[in-house]
Amino acid sequence: MTETTRTAAPLPEGMHLTPELTETLHEEYIHLHRHPELSMQEHETAAWIEARLDELGIDHERVGGTGVVGILRHPDGAEGQVVAWRADTDALPVKEDSGLEYASTARGTLPDGTEAPVMHACGHDTHVAMGLSAARVLSRHPEAWAGTVVFVFQPGEETAAGAAALLEDGLWDRVPRPAAVLGQHVMPARAGTVRYVTGDAMSLADSFRVTFRGRGAHGSMPERSIDPILLAAHAVTRLQGVVSREVAPSDRAVVTVGTFHAGLKENVIPDTAEIALNVRTPTPEVRAKVSAAIHRILTAEALASGAPEPEIVRYNSFPRTHNDVELTPSVMDALRAELGAEAVTEMPPLMGSEDVGALADALGVPLVYWFLGGFEGDELEDNPANHTPQFAPVLEPTLTTGVHAALAGILHVLGR
Ligand code: ZN
Ligand code: ZN
Repeated sequence: MTETTRTAAPLPEGMHLTPELTETLHEEYIHLHRHPELSMQEHETAAWIEARLDELGIDHERVGGTGVVGILRHPDGAEGQVVAWRADTDALPVKEDSGLEYASTARGTLPDGTEAPVMHACGHDTHVAMGLSAARVLSRHPEAWAGTVVFVFQPGEETAAGAAALLEDGLWDRVPRPAAVLGQHVMPARAGTVRYVTGDAMSLADSFRVTFRGRGAHGSMPERSIDPILLAAHAVTRLQGVVSREVAPSDRAVVTVGTFHAGLKENVIPDTAEIALNVRTPTPEVRAKVSAAIHRILTAEALASGAPEPEIVRYNSFPRTHNDVELTPSVMDALRAELGAEAVTEMPPLMGSEDVGALADALGVPLVYWFLGGFEGDELEDNPANHTPQFAPVLEPTLTTGVHAALAGILHVLGR
C-alpha cells in the first residue's frame, strides 16, 4: 500500500447517511435485534443478510456454514486495492431486560440441548446493520472510491468458532485478497465516540476443562480413597501462583477457576472432581508460558495425590487482537477527520477477547479494530456492560457514527 493518497479528510458530502438511509439502517437494526440467533446457528440471520446483499446487487458466498461474505466490486471492473470489513453476527443466551419496545423474546437451543432465551447482548446486531449500510452507501457512490470491499459477516464470535470456521472453509481463497482487515465493536462508552488501542488490543483467551480421577470410598474410610476433592482443591490454590509468581507484573494475565464440581453426598468420597479454567494472556508468548505452567501444576498435583494424569481439554481459544502499529494511527486520523478529534481517543488494552485477529493473521495483513460507544453515560461504569440483559445501545448517534466510521476507515485504506 502506498501512503501517498492518504491524507485524512472527512467523507465526501454525499456519503453521509440521508434521512432515507438512516431509516433503513434503523429498520434493519431493529429487525436483527428482534431475531437473534446463538453462535454457529445464525441460519436466518445469514439468509437475511444474503437477501439484503441481493437487493444491493453485491455478489456473495456462504462460508463456514452460517458465514456470508459479500464482494463489493467497483463498477469500473478493476480489482484494485482490496479491504475487508468484518461484522460478527451471533447473539448470546441472555434474557433481554432492556424495557425496549423491540426487545428480543427469542429462544434458542444451546449445544448441550438446553433451551435458553436469546438476545443480541453484545451488539453484533449493530455491527451487521452498520456493515450493510456502509455497503449500501458505497454501492450508491462509486465516484468516491476505487477497488474492492469484502464484507465478512462472521458467525460464532462468542465461542471463537466463527473465524476459525471461515478460515477452515477457505475464506481467503474464495475472495480477492485484502490488504487489511477492518472492523468495530460496540462498547459501554458514550455514543458518538470511538476508542482504540494501538498494538495488542485485547487478550488471548483459553478455557480448560479438567477432570481429576481419584478413587471413591466411604467417607469414614479415607485411607481407601484417592480424594479428588483434596487434589482439586490443592490444584486450584496452586494455580493462583501462576499469575502472581510466574508472569511478569507488566504482562496482564488472569487465571480464573470458574467451576468446581465434585461429589453428591457428605459421607461419600467421589471418584472424580472437575474444574474449568478461563485464562487471559496478552501475547502468544505469555499464553504458551501460562498454559505450560497450568499443565505442569495440574499433572504434578495429581501425581502428589497418587492419582492418574488428569484429563485436560482446551476449548474456546481466542487469538490475539493485534492492531497494526502503522495502519491503526493513520486510520484513526481518518476517523478523527470525519468524527472530530475529541470523539476518537486511545485507551489501554482490554482484558476481553475476540477472534477477528485470526482473519488478519491468517493472511499476515494488518488489522485495525476499534470500539464504538453506544450509550449515554460518559463513564464505562455508567452504562450496561456487554453480555448483560440491559445491553441495548441507543440507536443514535451510535448507528450513524458506526456507518460513517466504517466508511472513513474503508475509504482510507482504499485511497480515494
Ligand atoms: Zn461478546
Ligand atoms: Zn461481541
